[in-house]
Amino acid sequence: MSTISIPVTKTTQSKLSETDFSSLVFGKSISDHMFVADYQNGAWGDFRIVPYGPMEIYPGNATLHYGQAIFEGMKAYKNEKGEVLVFRAEANAKRLNESAARMCMPQLPESVFLEALKQLLSLDRDWVPQGKGSSLYIRPFMFAMDNYLGVKASDSYRFMIFTSPVGAYYSKPVSVKVETTYTRACEGGTGEAKAAGNYAASLYPALQAQKEGYDQLLWTDGKTHSQIEESGTMNVMFKIKGNLITAPTHGGTILKGITRNSVLQLAKDWGQAVEERFLAVTELEEALKNGSLEEAFGVGTAATIAFINKINVNGKDYLLPEPKPDAFSTRVLSTLDSIKYGEVQDPHQWILTI
Ligand SMILES: *Cc1c(COP(=O)(O)O)cnc(C)c1O
Repeated sequence: MSTISIPVTKTTQSKLSETDFSSLVFGKSISDHMFVADYQNGAWGDFRIVPYGPMEIYPGNATLHYGQAIFEGMKAYKNEKGEVLVFRAEANAKRLNESAARMCMPQLPESVFLEALKQLLSLDRDWVPQGKGSSLYIRPFMFAMDNYLGVKASDSYRFMIFTSPVGAYYSKPVSVKVETTYTRACEGGTGEAKAAGNYAASLYPALQAQKEGYDQLLWTDGKTHSQIEESGTMNVMFKIKGNLITAPTHGGTILKGITRNSVLQLAKDWGQAVEERFLAVTELEEALKNGSLEEAFGVGTAATIAFINKINVNGKDYLLPEPKPDAFSTRVLSTLDSIKYGEVQDPHQWILTI
């Protein structure tokens, strides 16, 4: 396999020494370097790693007007030996291309994605915090670069990766509200693409819920608002009468979460009964009323597992007890953490060591 040559311009003003790793706020500190690639005349090229910094674009940049922009989110961890471990990077490279196809954007060879990631993380390895709970958040993204106001798919694009250290934080349980007015995604829409516009559209409904005192929404289907789809920017799972229930991802409205996929794989490994089907809001309400809802949690890269402690359905709040140490969600969180920090064997080759 031919390796991709990526020229590096190193920063002369590293921010490493002025970054307080003991008080990291998510997304605030950015590591020293970024990877850049440009797509022109039908091919990716001009690969480079340069100091993180502002870039020039034209006011006519098509992304600013018509929103052709997609992204990924993933994390790297440091094990006790100081090696950098990336969780399921190949899956992110694949999903970026699925999003690209839906948004009329070009495919990026997975080898470019992975090689760029390896070289960027090797250079900025001191930015990967050490210690359980801390990680380096990685943000790959692609956007249109044409300076043209006609509504059409852009001819030129930029792909970039930059990273941000994230401190150990206690992720407190979240309260959620079943949303029955606004819609995150509808059939035939862009729900399964990790497209920037999906996030823009979710801000207003999320803000309304926050004003009412809830952390996040439980999104329902756009047509009938009768079936649970996702929670905020995470997939969501419920355990009812011993069965793990989560929405299927083949209908085009649910983001194919890599954490979701990993949790389902572990459930399978452990013989945990899984039902990939839509959970009706009425069924959720019934299970909350009769106490058969055992666990409810969001799954995504940011928190891995976000325990839900309050659910509002049709204007009524239901409280959920804290998950027990032997609960599925507790065990799956601890197992995923052990795999990510290289403390246990990696049974599914999920880790890329750098
Ligand atoms: C990114 C994302 C998820 C979670 O995906 P992971 O790969 O597990 O981080 C779930 N839902 C939505 C809408 C997302 O954008």
